Amino acid sequence: MIHSATFMIFTILSVTFSNKVVNFQNQKVMETNKQIFKQDKLSYGYSALEPYIDAQTMQIHYEKHHAAYTEKFNAALLDLDNVPHDISEIFANISKYSTAVRNNGGGYFNHNLYWSIMTPSAKSNFDASLEVVDAINTAFGSFDEFKKEFSNAATTRFGSGWAWLSVDSHGKLFVSSTANQDNPLMDVVEKQGVPILAIDVWEHAYYLKYQNKRPDYIDAFFNVINWEEVNKRYKEAVN
Ligand code: MN
Repeated sequence: MIHSATFMIFTILSVTFSNKVVNFQNQKVMETNKQIFKQDKLSYGYSALEPYIDAQTMQIHYEKHHAAYTEKFNAALLDLDNVPHDISEIFANISKYSTAVRNNGGGYFNHNLYWSIMTPSAKSNFDASLEVVDAINTAFGSFDEFKKEFSNAATTRFGSGWAWLSVDSHGKLFVSSTANQDNPLMDVVEKQGVPILAIDVWEHAYYLKYQNKRPDYIDAFFNVINWEEVNKRYKEAVN
């Protein structure tokens, strides 16, 4: 008798508790649905870019840093009316937005681009016949010159930020670097364009494996570039 009473109380408590869990989960789902911008799924595993980019860095970078930028970006947009669904429209007027939108919106977008233009080294598909390689040769004189300029932009970016290969308004390629989470689509950068290749030079992108040797990370990055994706983005930008 005592046992069955205890059991009944336990059951009632369990049901009450699980209703709360259900309600809580529903609320979470509703909150998630308010997220306009979402992290892209990685098309490879965390260890797929080894030995050039280590699995632990990838996991922390994706699950912690990028997830946090995405969450904070969506949170910063919740209070605003008429948020453009095309993020490039937000960036084109980023000087009119808050620092939270600028930093987290940049962090959200830049990392999606960064993940997409990397691939396991065995699939890194540099091909001299790609349109973007032809355009690189035209803009920089040679691929080696481009690599030197891009690596230099990434190495000399003081503190944290990004280096970019972008298409300008005349369809010509140029290399630049930006501070923090800014990017070439923003109306606050020195030269605007459509970025087609990006390297993250924040310490969290390389510090676990490379410590203070940023140039080694930049060099390694060239082994995992997804040139087909860069080419696709180049063709979209010039058409
Ligand atoms: Mn990062």
